[in-house]
Amino acid sequence: MNRVKCLIIGSGPAGYTAAIYASRANLAPVLIEGPQLGGQLTTTTEVENFPGYPDGVEPFTMMDDMRRQAERFGTQFVSGIVTKVDFSVSPKKVIVEDEIEYEADAVIIATGASAKYLGLESERTYRGRGVSACATCDGFFYRKKTVAVVGGGDTACEEANYLAGLCEKVYMIVRKPFLRASDIMQQRVLNNPKIEVLFEHNTLQLTGEGKVQGADLIYRKGEPDEEQRHIAIDGFFLAIGHHPNTELFKDYLKRDAEGYIIVDGDSPRTNIPGIFAAGDCADPHYRQAVVAAGSGAKAAIEADKYIKSL
Ligand code: NDP
Repeated sequence: MNRVKCLIIGSGPAGYTAAIYASRANLAPVLIEGPQLGGQLTTTTEVENFPGYPDGVEPFTMMDDMRRQAERFGTQFVSGIVTKVDFSVSPKKVIVEDEIEYEADAVIIATGASAKYLGLESERTYRGRGVSACATCDGFFYRKKTVAVVGGGDTACEEANYLAGLCEKVYMIVRKPFLRASDIMQQRVLNNPKIEVLFEHNTLQLTGEGKVQGADLIYRKGEPDEEQRHIAIDGFFLAIGHHPNTELFKDYLKRDAEGYIIVDGDSPRTNIPGIFAAGDCADPHYRQAVVAAGSGAKAAIEADKYIKSL
């Protein structure tokens, strides 16, 4: 049994920032790093929108900088997956890899979210080489090029509009004969001359020499007028939703219909005193590293206050 004041779960910008603040507040935090060190950000090629890096920065470098900053003030890192929690008791229990048990006064959950992918083999092949799940992060690399956005919801429309501001042409690949997005977002897409919506299309595979250069699509699969077509593209953006990584906490924490942890207004407090949620696991809207980092700082400040009140 390991007894700690503050335990942080997650190694993205929210988790590391929480660790920097918690360690500087003398909480001697332990941070559990899962399998994706650095979090979702490391699936992108370069980070150009995080303040403080005027020339851009490689995501691994940035995350390693944050990690070293937390280490400098005494954060202890443990590698492994949290397999069980018990938040019904005080101190709270967190079990790593089914065997290492922690008891903590406060727990900061920063487990992030995972973008949904279609599940194509070629999507994995070209990940980071033309396949992206974040237009705001990667759109800039496709200036004056042709890209496709998959999805017909608000995120897809927002991303298509954003990309249309940078790219020569944007295809939207929509599996239904209509968009699911709100009216205003639909109108923006449909009125944008740079965006071509391909309704009732699904992606069969991505093609290209070492990077994405095209996509094979199928129109009205299984119908008498089914047809295959190829589009030439340089980038393929997924916008079919995200899964917050919060299943583990479902017996204890209030979550919304999508699984995002519900926090108390703009504070990171959850429905259980001493449990805080930061970053994308509690943020269905912004999903930006800088926002996650900010919420990690808030969570550590709140955890410090909570621990001092015990
Ligand atoms: P949504 O679940 O709303 O939309 C997902 C889209 O992806 C749908 O068009 C869906 O198709 C499509 N899709 C899902 N799986 C596949 C697949 N395997 N192949 C092809 N297409 C697929 O997710 P969003 O991320 O767009 O939005 C999430 C929430 O956030 C929503 O409530 C949204 O309103 C909100 N949001 C609001 C914004 C705003 O107000 N500015 C901006 C962004 C998000 P189908 O329709 O056929 O199911």
